[in-house]
Amino acid sequence: MILVTGGAGYIGSHCVKSLMKKGYEVAVLDNLSRGHRDAVLTPHFFEGSIGDASLLSKIFSSSSKKISAVMHFSAWTYVGESVEKPAEYYQNNVAQTLALLTAMRDHGIKQFIFSSTCATYGDVQKIPITEDTPIGPLNPYGHSKRMVELILADFDRAYGMKHCIFRYFNAAGADPEGQLAERHDPETHLIPIVLQVASGTRSHVSIFGTDYPTPDGTCIRDYIHVNDLSDAHILGIEYLEAGKPSNIFNLGSETGFSVREVIKMCEQVTGKKVPVKEAARRAGDAPRLVADSTRAKTVLGWKTKLSDIQTIVKTAWASMKP
Ligand code: UDP
Repeated sequence: MILVTGGAGYIGSHCVKSLMKKGYEVAVLDNLSRGHRDAVLTPHFFEGSIGDASLLSKIFSSSSKKISAVMHFSAWTYVGESVEKPAEYYQNNVAQTLALLTAMRDHGIKQFIFSSTCATYGDVQKIPITEDTPIGPLNPYGHSKRMVELILADFDRAYGMKHCIFRYFNAAGADPEGQLAERHDPETHLIPIVLQVASGTRSHVSIFGTDYPTPDGTCIRDYIHVNDLSDAHILGIEYLEAGKPSNIFNLGSETGFSVREVIKMCEQVTGKKVPVKEAARRAGDAPRLVADSTRAKTVLGWKTKLSDIQTIVKTAWASMKP
């Protein structure tokens, strides 16, 4: 059985669905602080903290549902918030993860899939970004993810715990079958915000910075469909099950879109005009983040299927309909 932490959250819930479709037995551990109980699609649900040693001991000691691997999604993920609240980010993302990893070590669980981020790279000199691009997070969120990456390397050396680190670019889109959606509260991500404007629940979208060194002055990001991310996680589990060495993989579509281009695509898909307000830069934002995902494609055999920007926006829009 695979334990998915954060399985009530956006990416975690999509991944649980994909794992179950593939025939994996899945348990979810989530404290529901930011996730949704109704997004948990497995009957094996533990409500609680990843830092709760006695709960982890109970989960990891079960002989009937032996956990072979952990997929770790639970984390706080807002760049802007992390700049305001570094203490909470290091507590939730680093200290709690260390507690989870220590419990895994104590119970001899040796496979770990980690949700990391392109925010570990920072303001890069060269696009596209490979896994060998120098690291330089610009905000506490990126730092927190990088710290866990370093812990994982040390746990591999000392305890033989193997990992796949997935550095996501901008996760977006939703379950094409309409069962799951992106439901953050508060919502801070660009595509859902623009779609909320299109649906009439928000008056406008603020464009955070129009003076970046990019062709239209707005930040460029690489949007990757959440189901393509899920596929990579399943390949990651198969990779670790095959006894392969720990590895780091970028997961992106390898195509960049500016904030203005994303807004235009949302207008096209929804048929609605989206009012914008030009605003100041948001702290901690890098001008351009676009992936080179060659390693995931060649080593894992990963192929993106839904990550063209139109399909991403269409599935996100469909998931917002009541
Ligand atoms: N963004 C924006 N207005 C918003 C939300 C986001 O201009 O209301 C910009 C943000 O500054 C970044 C890009 O859209 O350049 C993607 O931001 P998001 O928060 O979706 O993802 P991030 O890149 O921070 O992970």
